[in-house]
Amino acid sequence: MSRAPDDRAIQPLRIDAATGLLVGARQVLSPHFDERPAGMLPELIVVHGISLPPGEFGGPWIDRLLTGTLPPDAHPEFRERAALRVSAHTLIRRDGAIVQYVPFGARAWHAGKSEYRGRSACNDFSIGIELEGTDETPYTDAQYLALAALVSALLATYPSLAAGHIAGHCDIAPGRKSDPGPAFDWPRLRASVAARLVRAGKARG
Ligand SMILES: [Zn+2]
Repeated sequence: MSRAPDDRAIQPLRIDAATGLLVGARQVLSPHFDERPAGMLPELIVVHGISLPPGEFGGPWIDRLLTGTLPPDAHPEFRERAALRVSAHTLIRRDGAIVQYVPFGARAWHAGKSEYRGRSACNDFSIGIELEGTDETPYTDAQYLALAALVSALLATYPSLAAGHIAGHCDIAPGRKSDPGPAFDWPRLRASVAARLVRAGKARG
């Protein structure tokens, strides 16, 4: 049994508030985005799970789906998906590497028909983070570390977000979506984000 890596090992991430881009992340900007409705700020973080083909990790296919360039004939599972116009702000790969598709200030198309605490159309006011995985496969330590660091950077950059407003796609589209699935360890994410907030407060203090 190896102990879970200490999340202090991950350096704080930084977001350029002017561009909405994560400094140092691989940028694969998608045409699948538009402006948020006037006056709308990001108030919710939505965690997703995705793999392409389903259950397989690695490869270029998530980038291709989220940028509208998935070749329909490359795999039987791609035929229907190739016509989808979907995106997310970021993807966290199995090794913890973060890819950004849409600037955080813009509206990505990740939630679909959705509702959070009585408000519909969650894309308008949320940030979508995909984790490469499936509902039933444990997500990796590297993914939890990267996700906590990313959430912390988002909270630091956008005061309209709050640690208490993080939901799964399954929570905002119940019955229609199941990701990130039972494999996702919510208490672990919440504890890790809380610990980072305490450390950031002490560093400022
Ligand atoms: Zn999803």
